[in-house]
Amino acid sequence: MDKSATNKTKIRKRLFATFIFLSAVAVLLAFLVRDGRNEEATCPVHDVPLRLGASPISYGLPVFESEYFKAKTEKFPFSYSTYLGGCMPKTQRIAIVRYCPICRQAEEMWEATAQA
Ligand SMILES: [Zn+2]
Repeated sequence: MDKSATNKTKIRKRLFATFIFLSAVAVLLAFLVRDGRNEEATCPVHDVPLRLGASPISYGLPVFESEYFKAKTEKFPFSYSTYLGGCMPKTQRIAIVRYCPICRQAEEMWEATAQA
């Protein structure tokens, strides 16, 4: 086998190994990460562009106190500090979300004052 053929074989093996590696990464990401992005681009409450971020996923039936639910709906609807994953737990633990930074601040302030 000449040197050129040996180099082509090495390149093919490296490309194949890279393909296998990237495929494994894609499968692992799909196993652990959910696409939780909504369609909105702007927060309707604060009129600022939403940012791309990651949030932990919470599974199960959420029970919100009425005060929190009212405040969330009116003051920080796009905080997405936690992503509600539904009643049936899945393998994904992180959601990619579009969140409003001002909603997150408003939620943190609301929680700080609610606990005081
Ligand atoms: Zn907002």
